[in-house]
Amino acid sequence: MSTPSQWDALLADDRAHIWHPYASATDPGVIVPVTSAEGVRLNLADGRQLIDGMASWWCAIHGYNHPVMNRAVRAQLEDMAHVMFGGLTHPAAVKLARILCDLTPDSLTRVFFSDSGSVAVEVALKMAVQYWQARGEPGKRKMVALRSGYHGDTFGAMSVCDPVTGMHHLFGDVLAKQFFVPAPECDFDADCPESELDDITDLLSRHHGEIAAVILEPVVQGAGGMRFYSPDYLRKLRALCDAFEVLLIFDEIATGFGRTGKLFALEHAGVEPDLLCLGKSLTGGYMTLAATLCTERLASTISGGEAGAFMHGPTFMGNPLACATAIASIELLLSQPWQRTVERLGTELKEGLAPAADLEQVSEVRTLGAIGVIELKQGVDLRQVTPMFVERGVWVRPFGKLVYAMPPFVMQSDDVATLTAAMVDVVAKLEH
Ligand SMILES: *Cc1c(COP(=O)(O)O)cnc(C)c1O
Repeated sequence: MSTPSQWDALLADDRAHIWHPYASATDPGVIVPVTSAEGVRLNLADGRQLIDGMASWWCAIHGYNHPVMNRAVRAQLEDMAHVMFGGLTHPAAVKLARILCDLTPDSLTRVFFSDSGSVAVEVALKMAVQYWQARGEPGKRKMVALRSGYHGDTFGAMSVCDPVTGMHHLFGDVLAKQFFVPAPECDFDADCPESELDDITDLLSRHHGEIAAVILEPVVQGAGGMRFYSPDYLRKLRALCDAFEVLLIFDEIATGFGRTGKLFALEHAGVEPDLLCLGKSLTGGYMTLAATLCTERLASTISGGEAGAFMHGPTFMGNPLACATAIASIELLLSQPWQRTVERLGTELKEGLAPAADLEQVSEVRTLGAIGVIELKQGVDLRQVTPMFVERGVWVRPFGKLVYAMPPFVMQSDDVATLTAAMVDVVAKLEH
């Protein structure tokens, strides 16, 4: 805990020198100083505590300051924090790669590590392009993406984000022009009518000679709109991609490691992609690490191509501390009845958020796995709602029209109740 004057000094320096995400440098809005965190609670500089409904952007599945995770970090630190990955290897990367290949579909046998989700997406896009290059079809370079999708903030990733929420107009010609198709409308619980795939069928039949891959977030579209859709869409899409010889990339950076009730969202559909991107909760929110997995066919084709290699290699590739942390996080998750935990959280989010459905301000309330979403009719002003959430002892950071929760899996029932009650209460107090 710090004194109010120390807090003020910290915030003044923050304001003078720091650029926060998606924020104005000169007028960043409300910024809340955190001094430590424990379990599901963020400890603020003034001594208050917030129940964290965001799991630090969906990563901190085990909560904060977890003894098992802390031990894993310390143990790896004693061996080495980092070593370059070019020409060298180390036990943590090898073990993690094996775990990821074991947990994901059998056809995914190769792991390329990188340092953030956006880069894992860049890697997948580059692999897709290099694959067709090596196959003697260099014209197959473009991507197909869904509207309302989100894949990260680097240029390649941005080019496949929703063109409107991703503000493509700001970047003009700098962004690669990709193909977009409507996001599926079919409900999670329902089959997906063939007509949902009319647009993409038409697109692939006309342009498959220019298309390297389709990229999408399976079952849950996250930061592009928190939308849930039918796994049946993925089965039909896989068949289409096979028919038109186009690769299929699943971005499970948000959905991976249990969030939707399955370890990976692709399990809802039983579909195997050609490339799979992982990140976010891969290290339980402890460290930045991402991975792109691909099939042996892709790996061997790319390796047999003109370059004889995949042309990418981040400085911190396969960082030992991050890999060791990821191993600990995955083992910790799998050592517990996590499916039951996610189911309980889902039930509690559903019950807790249900009263919001009757509010004038709300257009829909939906839940899936450990994700709870209140979609409003109007966009939310963070400057207005952030203090309202903090007053109620919770941390919730809405975007656009979406007030949502993705709690750490360790959140207990009474804290979920506090969190959801605060969300409903804050929404009820907004203008309509
Ligand atoms: C967060 C996210 C990314 C980008 O990951 P970063 O680590 O922020 O670069 C990509 N795809 C999806 C689906 C995400 O949720």
